[in-house]
Amino acid sequence: MLRITQVADGVHFAETKGVNWTLLTEGDSVTLVDAGYPADAPLVAASLDRIGRRPEQLLAVLVTHAHVDHIGGLPALLASAPGARVLTSEREARHARREFLEQATPRDVAANLWRPGVLPWALHIIRAGALKKVSVPAAEAITGTGPLDLPGRPVPVVTPGHTSGHTCYHLPDTGVLITGDALVTGHWTSRIDGPQRITPFFDHDREAAGTALGLLRPLPADILLPGHGPVHRGPVAEAVDTALGR
Ligand SMILES: [Zn+2]
Repeated sequence: MLRITQVADGVHFAETKGVNWTLLTEGDSVTLVDAGYPADAPLVAASLDRIGRRPEQLLAVLVTHAHVDHIGGLPALLASAPGARVLTSEREARHARREFLEQATPRDVAANLWRPGVLPWALHIIRAGALKKVSVPAAEAITGTGPLDLPGRPVPVVTPGHTSGHTCYHLPDTGVLITGDALVTGHWTSRIDGPQRITPFFDHDREAAGTALGLLRPLPADILLPGHGPVHRGPVAEAVDTALGR
């Protein structure tokens, strides 16, 4: 399954059964935010095709965080888009290069198999290539502050907690906020719909992740594109309050 929805001018939200990514266009050029599981690589390529762009038109891939469900499709994609840079926060770039790993281990998953939805989710992600060791040696740190000189003019907002360099991307012109796994709207392992925090065992530092949500609250944004779950329309401050209140 691959569903692509244009949510704003030049902003395309791609949803699969397991994870989402976003494509930002300006003229012929594209910025991609996140890249799915390893087995999603053909779907990432298909999503570019569906919005009428070729891999050579991909200028950069921004990474919210370097978990296998968000960078898994990158190695295959970069092979066909050698000009694309991979950018994220300084800390997350190191994570993407696998200088360290902050991801739930198979042992963590096994300890949580009794929870609703965890077993079917685990079977799904194994098929999606979650056990594959993925690293992105080309990942670079974003330098400077403010909007990036890339399609979509995204503004990085570092929100440590889910991983210690987790980064959201805000598009002030369209009121879009790409929240990654800092704020989601659904997940195989969740029984609720709407703005929420991800299931606790996925967070590297649960407390920091809660604090980081406060950084999103003041942003002028009312179209939220999460790493998991559908698009959410409504002020980000309300979505953050809902998520923290659950
Ligand atoms: Zn995720």
